[in-house]
Amino acid sequence: MIEKIILSKKNIKDYKSVAGAGVINQLKKNAKSLKGKRIIHINSTPRGGGVAEILNNLVPLERSLGINASWFSFKAPKRFFKITKKIHNALQGEKINLSVSEKKFYLNINKKLAKELNKIPADLFIIHDPQPLAIILSFNNKPMVARIHLDLSAPNKKVFSLILPILRQYRKIIISLKEFIPKGINKSKVSIIPPAIDPLDAKHVDISKKKARKILSKFGVNFDKPLISQVSRFDPWKDPLGVIDAYYLAKKKIPDLQLILLGLFLEQDDPQAKVIFEKVKKKAKGNSDIFLFSNPKILKDKKISNNTFVNAVQRGSDLILQKSIKEGFGLTATEAMWKSKTVIGGTAYGLKLQIQNNKTGFIVKNSQEAAQKIVKLLNDKSLRRKIGQQAHLSVKKKYLITRLLNDHLKLYKTLIDADDS
Ligand code: UDP
Repeated sequence: MIEKIILSKKNIKDYKSVAGAGVINQLKKNAKSLKGKRIIHINSTPRGGGVAEILNNLVPLERSLGINASWFSFKAPKRFFKITKKIHNALQGEKINLSVSEKKFYLNINKKLAKELNKIPADLFIIHDPQPLAIILSFNNKPMVARIHLDLSAPNKKVFSLILPILRQYRKIIISLKEFIPKGINKSKVSIIPPAIDPLDAKHVDISKKKARKILSKFGVNFDKPLISQVSRFDPWKDPLGVIDAYYLAKKKIPDLQLILLGLFLEQDDPQAKVIFEKVKKKAKGNSDIFLFSNPKILKDKKISNNTFVNAVQRGSDLILQKSIKEGFGLTATEAMWKSKTVIGGTAYGLKLQIQNNKTGFIVKNSQEAAQKIVKLLNDKSLRRKIGQQAHLSVKKKYLITRLLNDHLKLYKTLIDADDS
C-alpha cells in the first residue's frame, strides 16, 4: 500500500540569497544533532493540494541538512478516500454522519498501513492530516507527531469524538494557528506552525506578466482584457460558486472581465472535486470569458507543466481571489502574494492570518463585497501595486520555507533529544 516518494534534490545553500546567511547558519546549527536521524513523513497523496506541495519542498531541504528524511504516501480503495473526505469535511464543520461500517473501514485500512510502516526503522514519524491518523493505534511505541493542516475552529462534534482519542495518543500535534487548538487536547502538546512556500520552486520562477499572459493565451485567454483568477481544488470550502457570483456582479461594471478557475484533478484523496466541478461548469456555462481548468491532459497536450501553468495564472492575473469559507492555511494566497499580487480572500481563519485586511490584501465576507473590491481594484492600478508590494514583503518575513524548516527542526530536537536521553 505504501509508496516512497521520489524527491528532487534541493540545496540549502541556494536559499542564502533569499533568506540571508544568518538564517542558513541557524538552520545548520539546529540540524547538527539531527544528522542521520530517520524522519518519516506520511500523507495520503503524492501530488496535488497543499500538503503534497509542502512535503515536496520541506523533505528535500531536511535531507540537504543531513537529516535522513523521507516521505511516504499510500494507495487505498476509493471507498477509503470517500470516507476520509467526509472526515475532512466534518472536521471543518460540516454536519456528517459516519456509519459504523465506514468507521470500521477507515480503521481497518489504517491498521494495514501501520503493519507496513512498522517495518520501517525510524526515529520520528510525522503523520499529515486525518487519512493516516489512526495508524498510531497499531504502532509499537515510536515517537509520532500529528500534523493537522485543516481548519479545526469548529469541528463537527460527532466525528471529532472519533478523532480526539486518536489525536491524544500523539506526542505532539502541529496546527497552523491558535484558533485550531483542539478542545480536549492539552495545550502543552500543541505546536503552532503555519505553513510556507518555497520561493525557489519551479512554481515561482520569475517570469514577466507578458510572458505569463502569452502562456494563458494558448488556452484562449485574451491577452489584453482584465483577468481575475482563483487557483484551488474544486471544493465547497474554496467556494468556487461564490467566486462565479462575484465575477458576474463585477462583470456588470467591467464587461470585458475574464475569470480563470484552476483546479487540476491531481490528487487521489479528493473524490468530491468532480462533483463540485460539474456544478461550477453548469454555473459558468455559456460565458466565453470564464476559463475552467480541471483536466491535466489539456496542459500535457501543450507540453506545459502544472507548475508552469499555476505560475502563469498567478503572474498573468490582475487580481487573485481565494474566497474560502474554511482554510487551515491557503498556500495559494501566499503564492500569489509572493508574486506581489493583490489577493481578495474569504473570512477563513487561515486567510485572516495570511492577509492583513487593507494592508497586504483584502478580506471579504461575501460575493457582493468581493465584486465591489474587484471593481475598485481593477480601476486602481497604483493601489494594486502598493498592496502587492506589501504582500510580498509580508511573505518574505513570515511564510518562506526556511522559517518552516527551522520550526520543524526545533520541534524534532525536543522530541528526538528527549528520546535519546
Ligand atoms: N495547485 C496546483 N495545481 C492546481 C491547483 C492547485 O498545483 O491546479 C497547488 C497550489 O499551487 C498550492 C496547492 O495546490 O500549492 C493548494 O494548496 P492550498 O493550501 O491552497 O489548498 P489545499 O488544496 O491544500 O486545501
